[in-house]
Amino acid sequence: MLKTGSKSRDRTGRSGANPNPNSNAGSAVESISRASSKAPLSTTSGKKRSDSTLTSVHPKSKEAKLKNKSTTELSELGSEETDLSTSEGDDSSWISWFCGLRGNELLCEVDEDYIQDDFNLCGLQGLIPFYDYAVDLILDNDCLSGDTYSEEHSEIESAAELLYGLIHARYIVTSRGLNAMHEKYKKADFGRCPRVFCEGQPCLPVGTSDVPDNGSVKVYCPKCEDVYFPRCKYQSNMDGAYIGTTFPHLYLMTYPSAKPPAAVQHYVPKVFGFKLHKGSK
Ligand SMILES: [Zn+2]
Repeated sequence: MLKTGSKSRDRTGRSGANPNPNSNAGSAVESISRASSKAPLSTTSGKKRSDSTLTSVHPKSKEAKLKNKSTTELSELGSEETDLSTSEGDDSSWISWFCGLRGNELLCEVDEDYIQDDFNLCGLQGLIPFYDYAVDLILDNDCLSGDTYSEEHSEIESAAELLYGLIHARYIVTSRGLNAMHEKYKKADFGRCPRVFCEGQPCLPVGTSDVPDNGSVKVYCPKCEDVYFPRCKYQSNMDGAYIGTTFPHLYLMTYPSAKPPAAVQHYVPKVFGFKLHKGSK
């Protein structure tokens, strides 16, 4: 949990660096350039999240809201007014906020109805510490105020991330989840295949394991049918279990029109214009 906790705090700080995290995660190259060019600006452009990071209290918790309110209310109002394109702000749900964080572009927003149905969460209770608190945090039920310490807040926040990820893996293989991911795939939100002859084919996220802490998320190209590391380093931090091993293949079965023709062009190594003989390699 410690590992997840530190990742969570990093992610909280990073979120401020991205003025519009939902925009154009499709181009892996642009994601990288965005990451490198805007990361140092986190203290200026992400006023709100930076303040929250310093408090080590969850930025959407009641304590964080009160603390920020007393000192930075006016400036926050200003930043929210000038930053309408983001999904951040006190009015947005935890789910919108979390999915809007940099690196979480591979996740879709799970319907709250789905999370409220205990049947869909069956078996997760034993895997998640502070399970009830984590569910309440995800659903924005304000039960965390006053009676928990900041260290516990941090652990609950980490637990909520893990819980949301595991719920997400289940959700995206339902018809509603497949449809939500379909919309993201159409916008190439999952990035594009780095292979030259795939000509920018949009990819799909995939996990190499359905068990948490067993490998980071990868992207699958339906054209060359191979898997790659996400080009955005923040996405590489995500646990592959948040997507699971089934999703891209079930998706392509459900939406056969989304499957591109197989790649026919292959790279041929040459020396002075001559193809290499097999024995010479
Ligand atoms: Zn490819």
